Amino acid sequence: MDRRQFTLGSLGLAAGLAAPSPIHGETPAYRGPNVILVRFGGGVRRAETIDAAATWAPFLRHVLAPRGTFIPDLRIDRLEGVNTSHAEGTLNLLTGRYLAYRELSSVGDRLEPTEPTLFEYLRRSFDIPSHQVLLVNGEDRPQEEFFTFGAGDHFGIDYRSEMLSLHRYKLYRTAQQLAEASLPEDQVLKVQEERQTLLTRDPRGATPDPSPEVNAFWARWRQDFGDTGLKNPRGDRLLTELSVRAMAELKPRFLMVNYQDPDYVHWGNPSHYTRAIAIIDEGLQRLTTAVDADPFYRENTIFVITPDCGRDANPLAEVPFQHHFNSRSAHETWAVIFGPGIGKGVIDKPVDQSAIAPTIAAAMGFAATRAEGSVIDGAFL
Ligand SMILES: [Zn+2]
Repeated sequence: MDRRQFTLGSLGLAAGLAAPSPIHGETPAYRGPNVILVRFGGGVRRAETIDAAATWAPFLRHVLAPRGTFIPDLRIDRLEGVNTSHAEGTLNLLTGRYLAYRELSSVGDRLEPTEPTLFEYLRRSFDIPSHQVLLVNGEDRPQEEFFTFGAGDHFGIDYRSEMLSLHRYKLYRTAQQLAEASLPEDQVLKVQEERQTLLTRDPRGATPDPSPEVNAFWARWRQDFGDTGLKNPRGDRLLTELSVRAMAELKPRFLMVNYQDPDYVHWGNPSHYTRAIAIIDEGLQRLTTAVDADPFYRENTIFVITPDCGRDANPLAEVPFQHHFNSRSAHETWAVIFGPGIGKGVIDKPVDQSAIAPTIAAAMGFAATRAEGSVIDGAFL
């Protein structure tokens, strides 16, 4: 459906219509471990995250890293044209390749994958419904709404993940409010405008419609947090809330959490950056506690925690934490991987960022055939 042809009747919300899903019976049921991929995002340096003495993420460094394989020297390759930034780094993680994206032509600054993502590989290999392959995104990054499936002649929309974000919730809420027809007229105009703005931010529009399971998730969210947007947590705490609720209600087999708030340091105060790292660390505590408390996840879930990119370390810059100047430390990240089947120890040699996708694929029992990297040596028992 073209978003410009949007009409309430075609939304299919009331009828609970779902987008077409892959043909069942052709792929086996999934019996492997669940995977939670945490993008420790918004770009972080090793100095404030994995430096044992200086870390602002003590739970990550002192509790989680010893639980599995700790890779202190993950690197973004210094290839021509590689930009150390958020969407780029995230797509490196999801495709196992560099430069596997293109700009959406209609709007600048928005990348869509041109190679298969882990979501697509997974759903092509196994019979897993879309609501069990989830991407949790921040509100103000509509540019990351395009990672759920790629463009071009690869697997595409039938194998997409579904997305949970405040942006998606607002699409749900505005559709519901207009369908309920219980608002006074001036409010209806406001909601129509709000919805139009939301649809304009995302050139793919609201398609494909969320599955009935995800719409039911939003219905419960709305019951608890209402229509004002004032009650729900904000920033990266919102992502933690969405993730924990999604685990309880949708039971995702593969969940990617795109934390982002350390990036607010672009606009000034370094304490925003270190505070945001500490908030992600609290999120990791909640996520691991939720896993340990739930029989569906306990002892059957692998965590992969890794940043999208590093940041600069230039003490002379006005804000010494940018990441667009191709500096060495913007290429320097790390990874912490733990869970059933994962080895324990420190990998004391450099590992390339393109190894993350094939390693997750191997853990889940499929091959990321288009990935350039290879499975991390020594990550598995
Ligand atoms: Zn940034």
